Amino acid sequence: MTFEELGVDEPLLRAIEELGFEQPMPVQAQVIPHLLNEESDVVALAQTGTGKTAAFGLPTLQRIVPKNHVPQALILAPTRELCLQIAADLADFSKYLPEVNVLPVYGGSSIESQIRSLRKGVHIIVATPGRLIDLINRGVAILDDVHTVILDEADEMLNMGFLDSINEILDHVPVQRKMLMFSATMPAEIDKIAKTYMHDPVEFVVGTRNEGATNVKHIYYMVNARDKYLALKRVVDYTPGIYGIVFCRTRRDTQEIADQLCQDGYNAEALHGDLSQQQRDIVMKKFRDCVVRLLVATDVAARGLDVDNLTHVINYGLPEDTAVYTHRSGRTGRAGKTGVSVAIIHSREKGRLKDIERIISKSFERKEVPTPNRIIEKQLYSLADKIEKVEVNDAEMENYLPGVIKKLGWLSADDLIRRVLSLEFQRLLDYYKDAPVIDFVESKSSKKEKNEKGSNKDRGGNRSDKEKDRRSAEKGMERIYVNLGKNDGFYAGNLIDLLNKNIDGARIEVGRIDLMPNYSLFDIKKRDARLVVNSLKGLDFMGKRVYSEIAEADKNYARAAGRKSRKSNDDDFAPDFSNRNFDRKRKGGGRKSRKK
Ligand code: AMP
Repeated sequence: MTFEELGVDEPLLRAIEELGFEQPMPVQAQVIPHLLNEESDVVALAQTGTGKTAAFGLPTLQRIVPKNHVPQALILAPTRELCLQIAADLADFSKYLPEVNVLPVYGGSSIESQIRSLRKGVHIIVATPGRLIDLINRGVAILDDVHTVILDEADEMLNMGFLDSINEILDHVPVQRKMLMFSATMPAEIDKIAKTYMHDPVEFVVGTRNEGATNVKHIYYMVNARDKYLALKRVVDYTPGIYGIVFCRTRRDTQEIADQLCQDGYNAEALHGDLSQQQRDIVMKKFRDCVVRLLVATDVAARGLDVDNLTHVINYGLPEDTAVYTHRSGRTGRAGKTGVSVAIIHSREKGRLKDIERIISKSFERKEVPTPNRIIEKQLYSLADKIEKVEVNDAEMENYLPGVIKKLGWLSADDLIRRVLSLEFQRLLDYYKDAPVIDFVESKSSKKEKNEKGSNKDRGGNRSDKEKDRRSAEKGMERIYVNLGKNDGFYAGNLIDLLNKNIDGARIEVGRIDLMPNYSLFDIKKRDARLVVNSLKGLDFMGKRVYSEIAEADKNYARAAGRKSRKSNDDDFAPDFSNRNFDRKRKGGGRKSRKK
């Protein structure tokens, strides 16, 4: 099936051919002939990225009579960004219909210039509801000759409270009109609008209702809540060339994560409702132009931002509403390209993951958070690839090359490659030194604790021997217990750091360290034991109050710590950025505990 066979006329065909549209997308194949030839109205369940703008835009343009200088079609959209996007698409499609005028009208910009344009004569108005009502009330937007009404992202318009405005606008449009409503979801109110305002609406569903785009791969990483930010950085580090949106639930998270990413040297910006319209425009332009590669955004602020070639969408936690996930993931894998939708979740979000899988009829693949080795390998390979593909400006280089060749000419090709790669390698190596494994290991830790409780008789003997070993100190040393473990993001470096920072002037010699999920044991010279215990007690480590004592050989610390950690597990629900310090500090060498 071709656009021509769907009934699209020559000037439009020429324009879309230049845009590279070879074949109609499914929503276009359904909607275009219907809007051109049938009387009934249309409700289309289609998400962004399905080609819906051309589906309604081409036939709408074709139905315009240019010599009538009055509005003949009205397109309503929830946001200014979407308005501008639709108007820009229509301008592209109507490249060879210069006499057709399309005007976007939206709040937040000069109403006077919109009034002037309307007075000059406009054929298609693309509007946000609020501003259009203003223009209707001022008597400049006259809709008496409108024969086509499109409601785009109707569900979003309802979410944003535009129902009354839509009703009011429709009251100004002749009853004899064609109406098309596009929506990604089908809440009851949409049905109500359809019943009230539409004539025998035909329902088109592009794909299954709420189905995720077919060329999107859904993967997830499961970590403790406090490690989400670390996981995000690792995912980004593992994906050189990433171009994506990181979705967060709140404006605060959005800003904090973007700030943190910038501080950590990533090319990221925040987009949320606390920014002024001008700031948002600048951020969106930078992102569209690929000057910014990572956009950290709330769902609402990212609406209308239309970018086709995103490689990744990252869900920094899962949204409450499954439809929101579908929206987010539908932003990648567009127009025939493939994309990846990543969810970075903590263990308690697993249930929601299952709900989403049911709705999108696809499974998420669990992946291990990329390890430092894999990240380094990938980054070096990407650098090698860049070296291979870089375009060399011979003419310009000639001016500078002789001096450099004189300096490096003695190196063999092999040596040169090693040195060039080492520039990056050493930085990565330093950065990832001692980086912990942060994947959440559900079964292992609970199994471990079960074993420690002696539930596994066979292996219990070995276990308790090991446990005893762990509790007994080396000669001349004292074994110390501390209620911090790997689940708290507590590693050997943190222990040394705590001791250095909190024991004035003393040089403490630390012996064997055993890090457990919920607690740790370590050896200290006997003479320092009391001082160490007293200094650690009551400190704050990433929001947790530290407790320490001289370890007793018979005490079951696993059980004690397990009980405590279960109680404090609710922390998992709170967004926690404390561990960011951990990785960031590593760049500068030390690690730090936060004091109250
Ligand atoms: P939309 O759902 O309207 O936001 O469209 C998503 C993207 O697909 C836009 O960038 C369009 O330019 C592109 N597109 C729309 N129709 C086609 C087509 N038939 N062939 C190729 N690309 C298309």
